[in-house]
Amino acid sequence: MFKYEFLSSLMSSVGFDAWGVVRAVELSDAKARFEGWLAEGNAFGLDYLHRNVEKRFDARLLLEGAKSVVVGAVSYKNALSLGSEGYVEGRVASYAHSVDYHSSLKAMLRKVAEGLGIADPKAVKLCVDSVPLAEKSLARLAGIGWVGRNSLIVSPQLGSFMVLGEIILREEFDHYSSPYEGDGCVGCGRCLLRCPTGAIGPQRSINTALCIANRTIEQASAEGFDTHGWVFGCDECQSCCPHNASAPLYRNPRFEPLYDPRNYDSEFWAKLTPTEAESAFGTTPLMRKFKK
Ligand code: SF4
Ligand code: SF4
Repeated sequence: MFKYEFLSSLMSSVGFDAWGVVRAVELSDAKARFEGWLAEGNAFGLDYLHRNVEKRFDARLLLEGAKSVVVGAVSYKNALSLGSEGYVEGRVASYAHSVDYHSSLKAMLRKVAEGLGIADPKAVKLCVDSVPLAEKSLARLAGIGWVGRNSLIVSPQLGSFMVLGEIILREEFDHYSSPYEGDGCVGCGRCLLRCPTGAIGPQRSINTALCIANRTIEQASAEGFDTHGWVFGCDECQSCCPHNASAPLYRNPRFEPLYDPRNYDSEFWAKLTPTEAESAFGTTPLMRKFKK
């Protein structure tokens, strides 16, 4: 059995800002909500979300014999996350200003697993987005924050400019986290008003057909869709959030911005070739756009 206190020291030392650990069980309520969201046709162009639904809501189906899921969150809030005067076109979501979080988080999670003494990589499952896992539900259960009206996990201390990673493992811990029970959205609603396309639904869900982030990141082209000056992602429903206004900037050096997007306009991004992109932004999430 692992000690939670020891896990905490590892998570902090590798650069996580918030974390918790939950039991690997089926998340049936969250699964029912997700299936309802899918049935309403909200997953525009995201066919992969229709696959592996069972696995997404039961970590034991991703790692046989799993007992626990460690959930970690890291802030990437930088000086441009809340916006910048005059920066209204050619905009890039702030998570894409630094090294791709997939590689950063995978390396951090691997260090934690090794620190716990798990040498065999097949004895754990490290998850960063690419694995079907209901990470927002798990983050709430791990006490990291609540699911905000913008459909993102919001931490009372760190806001929502965070990325999440998980370790599914077969060991138990001597302590499990309590779910986050608060709701810091009460009396607010700024994100609904700010979303330029009306993509935010009443049930803390997103209609991805209308979401600029989906259109500019996940889809091959956003042609014919008004992206309101965004070329990759969209921070509008986060930059307006009062919890982000008060949140500190990133502390993990892996999330240091590698370029200033204000130096590039929409024309620059439209003309950028994959080869030029690779040379200038090769380590950032922007490459997702150029590898399609
Ligand atoms: S990312 Fe942008 S378009 Fe998508 S829900 Fe948020 S504000 Fe709306
Ligand atoms: S802007 Fe307001 S309603 Fe939206 S996530 Fe933040 S606190 Fe919640």
